[in-house]
Amino acid sequence: MSVDTVSLTGWGRTAPTTALRFRPRSYEEAAAVVRGRGPRGVLARGLGRAHGDAAQNAGGSVLDMTALNRVHTIDTRTGTVVCDAGVSLHRLMEVLLPLGRFVPVTPSTRHITVGGAIGSDVQGRDHRLSGSFSRHVGSLELLTADGEVRTVLPGTALFDATAGGLGLTGVVLAATLRFQPVTSSLMSVDTERATDLDDLLARFTAGGDRHRYASAWLDLLARGGATGRGIITRGEHAPLHTLPARARRTPLAFRPGQLPAAPALVPAGLLGRTSAALYNELRFRAAPRSRTGELQRIPTFFHALDGVPHWNRLHGRGGFVRYQFVVPYGQEETLHRVVRRLSTRRCPSFLAVLKRFGRADPGWLSFPAPGWSLALDLPVGLPGLGRFLDGLDEEVAAAGGRVCLAKDARMRPGVLAAMYPRLPEFRALRAELDPGGAFRSDLSRRLSL
Ligand SMILES: Cc1cc2nc3c(=O)[nH]c(=O)nc-3n(C[C@H](O)[C@H](O)[C@H](O)COP(=O)(O)OP(=O)(O)OC[C@H]3O[C@@H](n4cnc5c(N)ncnc54)[C@H](O)[C@@H]3O)c2cc1C
Repeated sequence: MSVDTVSLTGWGRTAPTTALRFRPRSYEEAAAVVRGRGPRGVLARGLGRAHGDAAQNAGGSVLDMTALNRVHTIDTRTGTVVCDAGVSLHRLMEVLLPLGRFVPVTPSTRHITVGGAIGSDVQGRDHRLSGSFSRHVGSLELLTADGEVRTVLPGTALFDATAGGLGLTGVVLAATLRFQPVTSSLMSVDTERATDLDDLLARFTAGGDRHRYASAWLDLLARGGATGRGIITRGEHAPLHTLPARARRTPLAFRPGQLPAAPALVPAGLLGRTSAALYNELRFRAAPRSRTGELQRIPTFFHALDGVPHWNRLHGRGGFVRYQFVVPYGQEETLHRVVRRLSTRRCPSFLAVLKRFGRADPGWLSFPAPGWSLALDLPVGLPGLGRFLDGLDEEVAAAGGRVCLAKDARMRPGVLAAMYPRLPEFRALRAELDPGGAFRSDLSRRLSL
């Protein structure tokens, strides 16, 4: 097992902290690290795609799980896979697509591990229909604070604390996952433009659940009558018979392309207001008013940013904050207010994604709840950003909504209990299972999880 001392950040590249990093190659090595942990505790880490400090442990140990990456068994009859927690969704797609299977839920990057997908209970553009990742987990092997491995099943308190539990109940070593059948690796995509936020919400709702996947990009720099304008994109796995003859020859091919990596040094301000406004204007105008049935590859539809390695450097040295919240249906006025506040402040956000979530997931700290979710990236150097986002947190909490913890880098603990009502149960289970506080992270210390 390799061991080194490293400075770690989340994908947003804010708040680096130093930890002792272990890279176990067997479950026994992982258990030895947990048993031999120091006073600052230990934490599992996957591919570090959580934006904030969820996968950091200042002055303690971090278990890099990426060398535990075996796919153990695939049962195409039942659609189940047993794999190590360090296997990435990218690898699963490589292995499963040729067999006519697809991951049950994918976030907007496929470079995350199964352990990270469970730790954050990730959601995708099909949450309305599929729920989040843990709904598709049949069982998991969890290494707990005593160094033992437990098989954890859905419907138990330990499962619900671990799904979205941000690595704080233990280390997921392996999982059994259920997969969905697909007949092609192409997506049939519909696009439509909306002139303002009311128009966007109305079109989004009118689209109903006809398509499995749906999301909208918002132009947060548009103001006045155009505030909240955007582009709605809906998609479906394209059935074999709809493919052109050429594509039908290799319908399940998975060929992600890649552009050159973003440069290591990007001048501050490159992604400022002017360039964001210009980009947003061009993006909005370039989108078709309405188009149906465009065929796109899986990476283009789901994981466009994965095509540019290290794109997170584009925000410059300071890094960026991803702010994602959900407010319940019926609280659209709060969504309007937040969007107005963002656009009045001229926040230079290139990436603002709106989704509709379905019923809440069983995970006690799982983020999705029925309602509208908006995610956006903001450069950390924006003057007054902390206070501005604190104000948004309060609006969101007052509306019965919540902020996503896996992406958070700056929230204050005061609003947490209102956002996550099952937090007391989570704390009680941790106190019972792990009285010495073996599992810790920068996030857990900051928010007293
Ligand atoms: C471009 C981009 C797009 C994204 N889009 C979405 C999206 O659409 N939806 C969404 O929900 N998320 C999204 N995310 C966030 C990302 O999917 C999650 O944060 C995910 O958890 C990252 O997985 P990881 O393997 O990199 O885990 P890490 O970032 O390394 O860790 C995340 C959390 O999981 C825990 N963890 C990791 N491995 C284990 C393990 N083996 N056992 C126990 N706990 C573990 C860590 O302790 C930490 O708390 C996006 C991130 C990026 C960079």
